[in-house]
Amino acid sequence: MPHPFESIRTVFRGELLANEPLSRHTSLKVGGPADILAIPEDKYDLLELLGKLEELGIPWFVIGGGYNLLVLDKGFRGTAISLRKLDRVELRDDTTLYAEAGAKNRVLADTARDCSLTGFEFLIGIPGTVGGALRMNAGAHGREIFDSVTSLELLSGGEFKKHVKNSLDYGYRHLQLNPNEIIISAEFRLVSGNREDITADMDSSMRKRHESQQVGWPNAGSYFRNPPEHAAWRLIDECGLRGFSIGGAQVSEVHANFLINRGAATALDFLKLAAIIKGQVLEKSGILLAEEVRIVGEE
Ligand SMILES: Cc1cc2nc3c(=O)[nH]c(=O)nc-3n(C[C@H](O)[C@H](O)[C@H](O)COP(=O)(O)OP(=O)(O)OC[C@H]3O[C@@H](n4cnc5c(N)ncnc54)[C@H](O)[C@@H]3O)c2cc1C
Repeated sequence: MPHPFESIRTVFRGELLANEPLSRHTSLKVGGPADILAIPEDKYDLLELLGKLEELGIPWFVIGGGYNLLVLDKGFRGTAISLRKLDRVELRDDTTLYAEAGAKNRVLADTARDCSLTGFEFLIGIPGTVGGALRMNAGAHGREIFDSVTSLELLSGGEFKKHVKNSLDYGYRHLQLNPNEIIISAEFRLVSGNREDITADMDSSMRKRHESQQVGWPNAGSYFRNPPEHAAWRLIDECGLRGFSIGGAQVSEVHANFLINRGAATALDFLKLAAIIKGQVLEKSGILLAEEVRIVGEE
């Protein structure tokens, strides 16, 4: 049987990598390969790619910066799609910023500051892409990215469509999308501010992170969502699990909701460690923790 590359190449202009280890593309640094990693040149190239993958019956998923992903050890039988070339960030009018999904949060936050717009100071320290941040409704210090969204452009069923904010279903670390929907871009409304104040707030946000999150090993940020009225780290801490490890996966000594890779962890180590944490927290507090990290691939 010919390699699907040949068929994909007939319509696709972007980059294709075969058997690409996803551990290279995730902050936890674990996980097996994707059969294909595809990097479209632009959104029309993405559209062609999806049509071809559908025709060939090849499953796919979108990978952003990989900062919230646990890829399982056998990897992903299908195509991981990176939108890293869709990375435009533009000022549309005095207070409106436009960003494509593959742009980095840091670039969006820096652009807002450079335009003296306030509202994205919290975003500076959240690693990843705008698409990933929207998908996760990323947030910190009492703010989240959806506070500033006015509309999203989604690719769905072969069409690009604009969705205004109040038509979207979003909440804490969550945006509801249909299974085959992809975030292409977003528009944000910010507020005019003072550039020095914005810079100072960004610096303070980075300092706070440095103090509480300097865990020193590969991680995916908070592994579990905060249950209503509770902090996941405190529930884990109350079980005496700080420093507890399975294989190479460990509960960070610095932040109990950060699970770290001490060098040679497998995805299975993380699954086992998470199961123990969930079991102990449930027994002690009656609360069932839910993963914030997205789990992808085959065990
Ligand atoms: C040190 C550290 C600190 C962190 N601090 C925070 C924090 O303060 N607050 C916070 O909220 N998070 C935090 N995180 C987690 C992470 O940075 C965020 O969840 C971030 O938004 C993930 O973006 P990403 O581009 O890496 O997405 P990925 O991890 O690559 O993907 C996350 C999910 O989004 C989907 N996705 C990505 N792009 C698209 C798209 N274009 N269309 C549709 N779906 C898409 C993926 O399929 C996946 O399901 C932290 C992580 C680390 C490592």
